[in-house]
Amino acid sequence: MRAMLELKNVSHVYVSAQEASLAVEGLDLQVTPGEFVSLVGPSGCGKTTILSLLAGLLVPSRGQVLIGGEPVHGPSPRVGYMLQQDYLLPWRTIRGNVLLGPELAGRQSRETEEAVERLLHEMGLSGSAARYPHELSGGMRQRAALVRTLITDPEVLLLDEPFSALDMHIKLQLEDLVHHTLRRMRKTALLVTHDLAEAAAMSDRVVLLGSRPGRIRHIFDIPAELRALPPMQARREPGFQDIFEAIWAELEEGEEGGDA
Ligand code: ADP
Ligand code: MG
Repeated sequence: MRAMLELKNVSHVYVSAQEASLAVEGLDLQVTPGEFVSLVGPSGCGKTTILSLLAGLLVPSRGQVLIGGEPVHGPSPRVGYMLQQDYLLPWRTIRGNVLLGPELAGRQSRETEEAVERLLHEMGLSGSAARYPHELSGGMRQRAALVRTLITDPEVLLLDEPFSALDMHIKLQLEDLVHHTLRRMRKTALLVTHDLAEAAAMSDRVVLLGSRPGRIRHIFDIPAELRALPPMQARREPGFQDIFEAIWAELEEGEEGGDA
């Protein structure tokens, strides 16, 4: 099957007036359509850099970045981005924030409005559509940010620690909701997280990166019986602990190597 996301021998160097620093080196990765893949690794190993390359916000110093088999030449409506901070506009209602993308794209139709209402309903936000961001909890704001990302119907979702600022119990609920929604819509997703359990519970595969420079150290296939379950349920399976510990052990080993 053709890859939806592909990195071919990608390296990236950040250049400033003072210095050049190699952030990631020799990355090769293919993500198939509909797959959910997580990126984990120590802080500074290049996770956000990889998402920025895929989003077309950075041009790789070497190698090729492809979406749907085509080279990335800048930001594209095929790719949606969701961050830890929701960046909702404070002066617009939740509905107004969600409608911003379609408005900017000149796609204000009856169908779009109906799609907005449907998605808001599915995310449990119907009752909050006329409220302003500051009136909502963190979890509700992230759900609103997800609706805003999904309404433009991207094929790929890049998620940079979207749950990390939330309370544990809200975070677990949102993991289930995002997992379920992206599967149902057959989106391809790349999630950055520092939470290994979250990565193991949500993903088909987990990519572990090492640092200085960022390189792929290991790719873990999550067992099929865990992949078939919603994240919250997967966490309770006996096999979950095994895969969690395997990722943990590999991460620990890399950290020791890095400091030596
Ligand atoms: P992560 O998201 O895994 O924490 P990043 O992709 O943000 O890592 O950063 C990878 C490396 O690149 C780090 O060493 C970081 O300091 C460096 N870096 C990130 N952004 C820039 C930038 N705009 N200019 C220079 N160096 C950067
Ligand atoms: Mg980051």
